[in-house]
Parts: sequence; C-alpha cells; structure tokens
Amino acid sequence: NRPPRWHRHFLRPQPTLHPLLPHPHPHSRHPQPIRVMQWNILAQALGEGKDGFVRCPLEALNWAERKYLILEEILTYQPDILCLQEVDHYFDTFQPVLASLGYHSSFCPKPWSPCLDVENNNGPDGCALFFRRDRFEPLATNHLRLSAMMLKTNQVAVVCTLRCHETGRRFCVAVTHLKARSGWESLRSAQGSSLLQSLRTITMGTTLPQDTITGVTGGEEGEEGGVPLIVCGDFNAEPWEDVYQRFASSPLGLDSAYKCLSADGRSEPPYTSWKIRRSSGESRHTLDYIWYSHRSFHVDAVLELPSEEQIGPDRLPSYHYPSDHLSLVCDLSFAEPTQQQH
Ligand code: NDP
Ligand code: CA
Repeated sequence: NRPPRWHRHFLRPQPTLHPLLPHPHPHSRHPQPIRVMQWNILAQALGEGKDGFVRCPLEALNWAERKYLILEEILTYQPDILCLQEVDHYFDTFQPVLASLGYHSSFCPKPWSPCLDVENNNGPDGCALFFRRDRFEPLATNHLRLSAMMLKTNQVAVVCTLRCHETGRRFCVAVTHLKARSGWESLRSAQGSSLLQSLRTITMGTTLPQDTITGVTGGEEGEEGGVPLIVCGDFNAEPWEDVYQRFASSPLGLDSAYKCLSADGRSEPPYTSWKIRRSSGESRHTLDYIWYSHRSFHVDAVLELPSEEQIGPDRLPSYHYPSDHLSLVCDLSFAEPTQQQH
C-alpha cells in the first residue's frame, strides 16, 4: 500500500508586495492566469543506474509505477505550461499521454546524455516543454545548445513563442537544465549568459542565435521592449551563485516566482531538492526556479513546498514522491498594458 499523497496548498503573495497591481478578483472578468509547472522528474536511467539514492527502495523507482506518480502530479495541478528536465521517456510516455490530454510539446535531448552509459537505457534524457493547445498557439520553437567560452556544452534549452488565444498576447517560454555538481559554477554561469543572450535575440524578434540546433520561425516582429518571458529550469545553482545573480540582474527584467513564498518576498525557498546519496551523503539545495518578466506578469499564486516532516527522514525520491526534485507550480497573470513599463 502506498502512503497518501501530500496535499499542497496554493498561497497568494502578500498584496503589499505588488502595491501597483490590483489583486485579481475571482469573479472579475480578468483573463485566466497561466499556470506554469517546473519539474526535474529524475531520468529513469539515472535514478536506477547512477544516482545511488541509498534510502530509497528500488521498488519505488520502478518505472511501471513511478510514471503514474509523475503523471498524477501533473494532472493534479493541470498546468497550462509544463517544463520538464531529465525526460528519458518522452516518445513512449509523456508525448503520447500528454498529447491525448490536450498538450502540444517539444523535446530536446542532451547531446551526450549520461543515461546512455546505463545498461538497458531508454535513450538520452533532455528538456521537454508542453503547453495546452486550447489556450496557446505556437508561433516559433527553438532548440538551443548552450555554449560556454565559445564552446558548445552538453546542456540544452527549448524555447517556444506562444500566443494566448484568449487575450491575443504573445510571450516566450523556455526550459533548461544547467550543468550539475560543485566545481562547475563558472560553467553554469557561462551557460546562463549563453541562454540569456539567445533569449534576448529571440524575444527581440531578430535573427536566430548561432547555437540554434533547429529553429522553426513564424509570427510577427518583436514588440517594443521584447516579448514577455518565462524561464523554467533546474539551474543546479543555489541563489548565491553567479548564474542566479546573472538572471536576477539581466536587462530582460526577470524575477523569480518562488521568492513570493518568503516572509520578506526576497528569499528563495530553503530547498527544492533533498536527497541522500551513497557517495556524497545528504544534500539539501535550492536549484530550481521559475523566472518571469516582472514588467509583464505578476504572480497570483504559488504552490507551497512540502515540509521536512512531509518529506520524511529518507528524503527524496520515495514512495510518496517520484523525483529527488520538488515540482514548482505558479499562476502568472499578464499585467494590464497600462501597468507595463516601456
Ligand atoms: P552533469 O554533471 O550535468 O550531470 C548529469 C546528471 O547527473 C544530471 O542529471 C544530474 O542530476 C546527475 N547528478 C548530479 N550529481 C550527481 C551525483 N553525485 N551522482 C549521480 N548523478 C548526479 O552531466 P553532463 O551533462 O556534463 O554529462 C556528463 C556525462 O555525459 C558523463 O558522465 C558522460 O557519461 C557523458 N558524456 C559523454 C561524452 C562522450 O564523449 N561520450 C562527452 C560528454 C559527456 P541533477 O541535475 O538533478 O543534479
Ligand atoms: Ca538528477
């Protein structure tokens, strides 16, 4: 018997944090917010073959069951936009299942996925981006290979430009997974710069960046100030790292949605990943983020993170929870055009 699922509540940020923005009334005719979900779902090949999660029973990692826990989590929150990392079951599971539930999607595998080293692997892992077909029309899709010091790296991003059917407004959404492990902080920082540079080019509607693997362009020229942006990722970096600071201070005007959970509205949560490995022991880190253009969106709600008691002494993954990373979910609304800074 599996233990019951955790119940996570949506929390609304303090209105005082947004003094200029009226709080949307539930019965007003404001457009529906855009629900965004960010989740590193733990590649099946890595979880069983490489990670060494010593306190997680191997049966809890069995794909035939674990895939339903991942899908259950997605279906519980029904995101409009879903950004996943470590996807090594795209073609046989997530693409077909989520297509049947109304999602359009795009997948970019890592060029040298570590999954390929694992016996009986299911192919490379990569980043996947899903969006609801009934809410958004795709205008352009780019697959990026992130570079660092002019060299191509093993990390990728998927970027989609979408138009919202209800409001006609355009925005860009990106998903990425930066280089893991300590000692690689400067590579992550360079990868972040590479991604920001590409996003700047894409949102300004100019020519495609050089590190584009495939680009399917369409739509119109970029609007003044650039197309609003949402960037989801496992950055493998704590907030004190250079790459976080680069995003926080970028000219693209990005803010991180989960800061809303903190009392002062300025701090990231204490953890988004918590695990115990055979090789390195227990580690608890904040690595995952949802960035959004603060001039164009405001955060209506964020899904709280499970407490230490809910996670339990064996940490993640577990029978309760199928990944070593927690899912992040938030509702974003477009700021009224008059509230945008130009
Ligand atoms: P990363 O360092 O970014 O890590 C890859 C994965 O390993 C991530 O999903 C990460 O998860 C996970 N991970 C992080 N820490 C640990 C740990 N302590 N133990 C187990 N897993 C961990 O890898 P790269 O993308 O740089 O790829 C490295 C691998 O790619 C090599 O092992 C090699 O197999 C392969 N490779 C092969 C090449 C070739 O020429 N054949 C060239 C380049 C790479 P999370 O993000 O959740 O922390
Ligand atoms: Ca991992």
